[in-house]
Amino acid sequence: MNMSFDAVYYEPNALDYKLGQMLKCKYASLPWIEIESHNRIIEMTSADNRDFPKLKKHLIIGIRKTHRYVPNYKVSDWLVPYTSSGCRAMCLYCYLVCNYNKCAYLRLFVNREQMLDRLLKKDASTLVPQTFEIGSNSDLLLENTITDNLLYTIERFAREGRGSLTFPTKFDMVAPLLNLDHRGKTIFRMSVNPQEIINRIELGTSPLSARIRALNDMAEAGYPVGLLIAPVILLPNWKQLYEELIERLADELSYKVMQNGFIEIILMTYSFVQNAINTEAFPNAIQLFDRETMTGRGRGKYCYRNDIRAEAENFLREKISQQLGSMSILYIS
Ligand code: SF4
Repeated sequence: MNMSFDAVYYEPNALDYKLGQMLKCKYASLPWIEIESHNRIIEMTSADNRDFPKLKKHLIIGIRKTHRYVPNYKVSDWLVPYTSSGCRAMCLYCYLVCNYNKCAYLRLFVNREQMLDRLLKKDASTLVPQTFEIGSNSDLLLENTITDNLLYTIERFAREGRGSLTFPTKFDMVAPLLNLDHRGKTIFRMSVNPQEIINRIELGTSPLSARIRALNDMAEAGYPVGLLIAPVILLPNWKQLYEELIERLADELSYKVMQNGFIEIILMTYSFVQNAINTEAFPNAIQLFDRETMTGRGRGKYCYRNDIRAEAENFLREKISQQLGSMSILYIS
């Protein structure tokens, strides 16, 4: 992944933190532009949709001030706002675009000690150990390549936490994580899609073969692991694409992943906001909105029609039980 940036926009107080200082040295050759708040950068909110790829080249550095935990009922019990939001990659369906619109660029928050203190306090206060999803606002493995935040987080949580942390990724840069003292308290989830979808839709993410290798390596290093087939995108040849993907996973996933890993499956949702940005910023890209197969789901969102979803679900369950039968499907949503 090319993690080059063309400018840094920063809240001056961020430089009072160790991580802020480290980033200041790391990106000393870039222009540094002072901002009042990472949430209000007028020149970005007022930019045209077609400038989306240009905006993605900016790095924003600030301090996270809101820390609201949202209950969750899938792999984790809580969604936790953590050390970044947004992302340098540009998946055409990225759900962060629904939240941040054009401003889905990478924002780093330098107050990681404060965020992990808070998480550990919550972890200590619950009756039974809980699982905390720390990667719902960004891709933390990608972020880690410039901040090392995962190294800090995984080892400190291993020593001081009771429950588990978890995060998903579409990247393969796991080497720095393999020798950490994680004590099995971080659940690593790799998101996969057919290579053709990665090439045409998941712009700037790691290839499928590298993602499979990274998942095998993490399982070998003793991390609990999961596989996310997500988002499932029903292109005209979707049956062939997903059948080949599942066959490839059966061939290349290690015994450890197959025996201990679980599967999550999420069908794509798409929104009016994403469609507007993609149409203007990537005029030659594949069209993800399909009038024939999709239907409204409130607030400008679209999902596949129920009968189409049911067909996809049956198909995937059948192929997975034939090829990856030892892995349980946690949910299909
Ligand atoms: S890798 Fe994840 S966070 Fe980054 S653009 Fe793709 S979907 Fe969004």
